[in-house]
Amino acid sequence: MESSAAFHGIRTSISSSSVPSPTSSPPPTVAPGYGGPCAACKVLRRRCSDKCVLAPYFPPAELLNFATAHRVFGASNIIKLLQELPEGQRADAVSSMVYEAAARVRDPIYGCAGAICLLQKQVEGLQAELAQAHAELLKLQAQHKSLVNALLSPQLPPPLDASAPFADYIGEPWDEPLWTI
Ligand SMILES: [Zn+2]
Repeated sequence: MESSAAFHGIRTSISSSSVPSPTSSPPPTVAPGYGGPCAACKVLRRRCSDKCVLAPYFPPAELLNFATAHRVFGASNIIKLLQELPEGQRADAVSSMVYEAAARVRDPIYGCAGAICLLQKQVEGLQAELAQAHAELLKLQAQHKSLVNALLSPQLPPPLDASAPFADYIGEPWDEPLWTI
């Protein structure tokens, strides 16, 4: 199978790039104008030309990015996808493919969805915390307001006079008798 063979090539390329080995194969042919084959061609062990569709998005230093994306999507699918897109959107597509591939390698079951789910839970937790803090703030603001009103109010209730407990009830005398005969 071509992809598994290519993948074997990727692993060899990655290990040989990170840890130099005397048994590593010689580097692929260097294409003029690129300062070396792009990461994709290096991984795929093919000649990189001026027309290489992957070269603008996988510079030689980004070997691992292409290896990861290739591992998950396959080089032919990456190339096909890029060719179907306008050039202005290809860099973003490569960036998202590399991100998605890395997430899939990290989490083979959920991939990007796992990260999204985790972030959603974090958002929900933070929203609940925010709502609780907001409610606490409103409560404290109300307490503060009533306290300020009580301190600044000119109509404070008179202090209770224990010597005249019924003083409030002594008013004007009745104008009329209670009973008329
Ligand atoms: Zn290339």
